[in-house]
This record gives sequence, structure tokens and C-alpha cells, in this order.
Amino acid sequence: MEEIRYKEKMLYSRELHPDDTIVQAGEVSIGRGGFAVIAGPCSVESESQIMGIAEAVKEAGADMLRGGAYKPRTSPYDFQGLEAEGIKLLLKAKQETGLPIVSEIMDAGNLDLFEDIDVLQIGARNMQNFALLKAVGQTDKPVLIKRGISATYQEFLTAAEYVLSEGNPNVILCERGIRTFETYTRSTMDIAAVPVLKRLSHLPVLADPSHACGRSELVGSLALAATAAGADGLMIEVHSDPKLALSDGRQSLTPQQFAELMKKIRALTGALNA
Ligand code: PEP
Ligand code: MN
Repeated sequence: MEEIRYKEKMLYSRELHPDDTIVQAGEVSIGRGGFAVIAGPCSVESESQIMGIAEAVKEAGADMLRGGAYKPRTSPYDFQGLEAEGIKLLLKAKQETGLPIVSEIMDAGNLDLFEDIDVLQIGARNMQNFALLKAVGQTDKPVLIKRGISATYQEFLTAAEYVLSEGNPNVILCERGIRTFETYTRSTMDIAAVPVLKRLSHLPVLADPSHACGRSELVGSLALAATAAGADGLMIEVHSDPKLALSDGRQSLTPQQFAELMKKIRALTGALNA
């Protein structure tokens, strides 16, 4: 009798699924040439803050709005997010702008609150929170998983497998930098992750240059590098007043800087598709 090996072929793999997966978030298609830019503040801070940034990133050409309502902060004394109120404000911004919303979920107990949020983000710190991965795998919502700061490609893909194996095929991978010996940048952007993950998996691969470098002056270069490397889209932090941001101001672009970068991203994606 033939030996039966447990999951010889993983659901994330190209062996099982040779064609690129397209994940649909509202009207936005991510993967197989559907380049998506997700932009917005690290945290939702107030109604005027999120509405102003939502309008500005839309005007600049962003496809989706991001904003954290539940924030995984290193210190418990740092701003933890507006929580349920933050979700309400994100939905208001969605109503006003039509932009689909991406927001981080930290606790499966909050799934009801995220019902109208378009993409559930699993943060780097929760990449191996298996209970959370299983819970979002039992929904049919797009799930954007960020790479853990010390996760290998295999560990990252196996985290995605937790969601896929529960029956949810709508998984997006996001490289956001890893921890290395370098301290100048917040993390080290692993550009190789983009072509490697796309080779090993059919899932869309995004890149987040903001958390990778932690410095706004480097975000544009890394965004363009990840795009040239074949990313299916980008996640970029934007704040109307970075100096006053309650989290991650140092790495946030102003709306004007974001609009300038969008022009270069468009020129580059146009050249790559030519
Ligand atoms: C974020 O997107 O604001 C965030 C906390 O990202 P990460 O999980 O990659 O650190
Ligand atoms: Mn952030």
C-alpha cells in the first residue's frame, strides 16, 4: 500500500495551485497584476485625523485605507488604540471615501466588531498566534498576514497554511522587515522575500516599507525596490502631522510625500507591465 504522508502538498504551494491567487477586497483585486496600495495612519486617533488622511490618500490614488484600532505596542504604557471607537471611525471613512479598510485584529473575540472591515490584518507579533489564525481561517474575509520579525519563509508560509487549512483561501502575505544585527533601520527589509515567496506560493505578496525601515526618508526607496522585485502591492503609513502621531510618526509620510511617491510607483508599475 502506498504510504500516506500528512499534507505532502501544502495549500499555499505552487505544486497544488500553480496559478497566482487573486484576493478580492471589495472592488480591489490583489495578485496576478492587480497592484494594490494600502495607505493610512498607524493608528486611528480621532475622527478628523482618519477622515482627513482617508480623503488625502484616496486623492493620491491609494486603493485601500489602513488604520489600527487595536494596537500591539511594545510597552503597555504606549497608546493602545481607540478600539471599538476606532473601528467605527474606520467604517465612517469607508462610507465617505468608498475605500476598503484594512485593520489589525488581535483577539478572535473581536471578530463581530470587524464584520464590515474588508481585510483582517494579523500583525507580525501574532504571526504564530495559532488560535487567532484558525479563527480568521473560519471566516471568508481576506486575511493579510505580516511576517514575524524572526520568521523564516517556511514559518511564514506555514502560518498562512493555518488560515488556508481552515477553509479560507483569501490570504495575502506581507513582508515588513526582519530583525538583524543592524540597528540604524527599525528592521531590515528582506527584498528577497518577495521573489522567494512568490516562487514558493501562489498567494499575493505585499511589502510594508514603513515598518521595515522606521524612517520616512527611506520609505520611498524601499517601496520602489519591493515593487521592482515583483510585489503585488504595498502598505504605507501616512499621517497628516507625523510629529504629533500617537504611534509610528517617525516612519510616516505626509500626504504630500505619499502623493509624490504614488507618481513614481505608477511610473514603475507601468514600466514593469510594458
Ligand atoms: C502596523 O501595521 O501598524 C503594525 C503594528 O505592523 P507590524 O505587525 O508589521 O509591526
Ligand atoms: Mn505602525
